Amino acid sequence: MPKLCSSRTLLDAATRGGKAIAALNFYNAETLLAHMRAARVSRESIILQTTESTIDYLGLRMILGMAAAAADQLEEPVALHLDHGSSYELAARCIDAGYTSVMIDGSKLSFADNCALTRRVVELAHSAGVSVEGELGHVGENDAASEDSQLLTESDDAARFVNETGVDALAVAIGTAHGFYKGEVRLDFGRLKEINAAVPNTPLVLHGGSGLSAELLDEAIACGIRKVNFGTELKNAFTKAVKASLSSSDDIDLRRTFAPAISAVEEISRSKIRICSRVAYERQTFSS
Ligand SMILES: [Zn+2]
Repeated sequence: MPKLCSSRTLLDAATRGGKAIAALNFYNAETLLAHMRAARVSRESIILQTTESTIDYLGLRMILGMAAAAADQLEEPVALHLDHGSSYELAARCIDAGYTSVMIDGSKLSFADNCALTRRVVELAHSAGVSVEGELGHVGENDAASEDSQLLTESDDAARFVNETGVDALAVAIGTAHGFYKGEVRLDFGRLKEINAAVPNTPLVLHGGSGLSAELLDEAIACGIRKVNFGTELKNAFTKAVKASLSSSDDIDLRRTFAPAISAVEEISRSKIRICSRVAYERQTFSS
């Protein structure tokens, strides 16, 4: 099996095992290195993902080279995924460059427009053996000032959407949000179970995984979540460790400055991979 494989392959294996795959955003060589080390120690597949901002920052060729090199050094297969692809053109550029999975985020569009856009991306992606994640409902931001509000996913719509688009994975809105949570997080597990029952052959994706307790993640996975996205906690750990490293020393050697930050991210990545990869039996034991 090629080391960079489609995310559908990983998600189907996770479904069979009653597990989820940790989808870890990376932003630079250091965060990628952290995820690579975490995956190696855990001996689990991961999904490496970048947003459009990271593509603007590193460039597609650099990202592909780095991710393929990381995958080559791992025993378990890895996917490279576009997180929150905003347009057909961006998804096409990523597919062309060698991404093995793309998200097309039409969640701010009408149902019909979201379906049409997602279906176009699925047609292109599947012809290249690439998996597609769509989003229905809308996962908003944890920012009170934001007008970008939550719109929870309806199970009937999910069934129609999957039917009409042929997506490989579906991001659902059940109460999570991007960024830091303020106060207690409430997830609508009843809704999640209904969606899972409505689209039993489509792996479900949870965005806004940062800041969710192991108990919440366990329950979400037990209810059908097969991919959990983590970004905010990783960025936060990296930046805090760099700040501490710079303020405690005048050392200008970047290898030493970044070392504690890589370790900090690796530790979080390992713990997220561990939670996601618990098998069903361990999950029941944990939650009972
Ligand atoms: Zn997201």
